[in-house]
Amino acid sequence: MQHIDHFDPASATVAPAAGLESQQDHFDAKQKREFNKLQKRLRREVGNAIIDYQMINEGDRVMVCLSGGKDSYTMLEILLNLQRNAPVNFSLVAVNMDQKQPGFPEHILPRYLDNLGVEYHILERDTYSVVKEKTPEGKTTCALCSRLRRGSLYGFAEEIGANKIALGHHREDILETMFLNMFFGGTLKAMPPKLLSDDGKNIVIRPLAYCKEADIAEFSRLMEFPIIPCNLCGSQPNMQRQVVKEMLAEWDKKHPGRLESMFKAVTNVAPSQLADRDLFDFAGLEAKQADLMSGRIQAFNVN
Ligand code: SF4
Repeated sequence: MQHIDHFDPASATVAPAAGLESQQDHFDAKQKREFNKLQKRLRREVGNAIIDYQMINEGDRVMVCLSGGKDSYTMLEILLNLQRNAPVNFSLVAVNMDQKQPGFPEHILPRYLDNLGVEYHILERDTYSVVKEKTPEGKTTCALCSRLRRGSLYGFAEEIGANKIALGHHREDILETMFLNMFFGGTLKAMPPKLLSDDGKNIVIRPLAYCKEADIAEFSRLMEFPIIPCNLCGSQPNMQRQVVKEMLAEWDKKHPGRLESMFKAVTNVAPSQLADRDLFDFAGLEAKQADLMSGRIQAFNVN
């Protein structure tokens, strides 16, 4: 496994990890500058999301869910850097779930995490068999698979005393979810950067919420993370999500800035300009109007 440790953003010089110099030799000066810029941007965006949503506090024990995909490797890398430099003390524990898919390369993550020197657990749960058994032929398995994985990870967080669970969803995941919910769920909701689980036991955080998927993919490529594919089960990826993903990618190409604007919209909601009667008191508008008018009349009389 090859791995580049962090570049010092302040001096923009390479801070090599032991034994990794040879890989860095392959970076020419321009690539190093580009890499530094990308890494700084990702760190800044993660830092901002953590501050904006108060994701991590002093004394937190954060369970970092590591699937072996580009997003979770990036999240772990950036959180480790943040831990070294943040003004608050918090601990990180990486957790991967071995779902017993045939061909799952069991050695990759332990080797990677041993090299990093980070505390970690591999949680073995045969959700693969359950998913195969319960999913009708021809139906996509990802929804049940993710639900089972989430349930196991949430339970495990309690076991290891983690009070926060970090998931590697990024900006595009959030936007895709919003469109999927609009198209198929009839609801205007996305994926929040921070959430309390339904049973109240877990706080889930998404430190990559502000990060672009393309940046993460590039960072992951340059870091040469040992990616484990998520289709070992032979399943098709969630087709609808894929369609929405392509739609967003097309928009991004044709209309630069559109995704930024859409993500901003998720953080800037005007309930009085929507139509949800639970979020805004439309029936009370006349009373509000009467209050306003009487206030004006009183002010007029005083003057
Ligand atoms: S591709 Fe396979 S392993 Fe990945 S979420 Fe879907 S069902 Fe689960």
